[in-house]
Amino acid sequence: MTKYVFVTGGVVSGLGKGITASSIALLLKARGYKVFMQKFDPYINVDPGTMNPMQHGEVFVTYDGCETDLDLGHYERFIDEELNYSSNITSGKIYSSVIEKERKGEYLGATVQMIPHITNEIKNKIIEAGVSSQADIVITEIGGTVGDIESLTFLEAIRQLQHELGDENIFITHATLVPFIYGSEELKSKPTQNSVKDLRGLGIYPNALVLRAPYATPENLKRKISAFCSVPLENVIDSVDVKNIYEIPINYYNQKIDEIILKQFKLTLHRADLSAWKNLINTVANLKNEVEIALVGKYIELHDAYISVSEALKHAGYKYNYKVNIRWIDSEDLEKNNVKLDDIFKGVKGILVPGGFGSRGIEGKIKACEYARVHNIPYLGLCLGMQIAVIEFARHVCGLKDATSTEFDQTTEEPIIDLMADQKYILNMGGTLRLGNYECKLQKNSLASKLYGADNILERHRHRYEFNNKYKELLESKGLVFSGINEASNLVEIIEYPKNKFFIASQFHPEFKSRPTRPHPLFVGFIEACIK
Ligand code: GLN
Repeated sequence: MTKYVFVTGGVVSGLGKGITASSIALLLKARGYKVFMQKFDPYINVDPGTMNPMQHGEVFVTYDGCETDLDLGHYERFIDEELNYSSNITSGKIYSSVIEKERKGEYLGATVQMIPHITNEIKNKIIEAGVSSQADIVITEIGGTVGDIESLTFLEAIRQLQHELGDENIFITHATLVPFIYGSEELKSKPTQNSVKDLRGLGIYPNALVLRAPYATPENLKRKISAFCSVPLENVIDSVDVKNIYEIPINYYNQKIDEIILKQFKLTLHRADLSAWKNLINTVANLKNEVEIALVGKYIELHDAYISVSEALKHAGYKYNYKVNIRWIDSEDLEKNNVKLDDIFKGVKGILVPGGFGSRGIEGKIKACEYARVHNIPYLGLCLGMQIAVIEFARHVCGLKDATSTEFDQTTEEPIIDLMADQKYILNMGGTLRLGNYECKLQKNSLASKLYGADNILERHRHRYEFNNKYKELLESKGLVFSGINEASNLVEIIEYPKNKFFIASQFHPEFKSRPTRPHPLFVGFIEACIK
């Protein structure tokens, strides 16, 4: 039977619960166990797909097309396993399915209630994840902070499971804050004690505590926390601030969190193979050179809106022993009068235009792309970044000065980017984009096929608009190459411009498949071109 590790959080949000959950999963995988991960988000949205990235950060997409919380990106990067629809459960998803069942009459006359109907639905999702993934251990992070009204039903479901399945099958890790008080210059344990009291008030007892603090909590304070919270001293784990998040699993390993969990589960303690991960940390700690890349976006105030892109850039940098620094450029700034692009891009070795929605900031992105093309600066376009590259090329190389996307101008005469036929009659915004894996056939001898070293690839998508094939011949005649095509629907997936040193853009999101130990080929090619 599958066993379950839960990670809850207390005191404040933003403690890095996601990284804690992924680090635990990584260590259990390194011990030879098949792991799967889940995130529970207490908000009412069915998924984060309709949320503004400035509020919520990036929307991560799984191979099967689930729009998820960005923490799933951390999970995949840490455990290098593909997650799926059962990995991100929101209150919205739970409520929708309970209400759907009620309308179908499945509750046979019962009054439908938080307990047991909502909690049973949550428990089903937990058990289902174990069954469908056939994992030995499922690691689930509960979003929010203990004490929030929103997360109460999730915690109640876990309380029931702890009672029903017992310690041999369930391990609860509670992550809290140990604040440093300036003046008295000490760490304080009271918020942790209060948070554990809240958790116990809900009927859940933690098996381990993870203490987020600027430095390791001293032994005497840990003893106090252990005594007041009834958690064994060795199960009180430090989570100190680090420069590089990839160090965290090793910090936990040194404190034996995996051993503690496996012992409680009565599972064999196989030898852990962490050599690849240790090499990675060693590489990151000793990067020899630096390179600066411009990321031209419209949600740049919140760097988390581009977390997979910035991680993918870093991963490719590791391969060449380079630290990648990102110059965050607000595309709207490029639209201002008298803007000096030479100053803005001075010193950057590559320009990246990532995904985005809506017309704000589009003209600035087009300017950035033009600057890259004209000055032969390596360019990587992702999703919207491909649409921008095509519009720019059509306007400035092919003379179609009105070329644009119908997303920005519905009545345009030159809809070079347009809605797919099957998108035209869609009314709902949520969950209706072209999502998840689609095949792409690469043109022989193209830059894309060289970088991938393959003829066919599978990449993840999240968009509604497409390149309009009516314009293909014209653009080709001017030197643009359509090097990746989805043959089933005849959709353009990759464009490149071989006259430049490196100019490539994809309709899909390669950043979702980059791993720290396995950088993505498009990012590898981009960084290689930037440092040459
Ligand atoms: N807004 C564009 C579309 O819907 C691009 C989406 C994206 O960049 N993810 O097609």
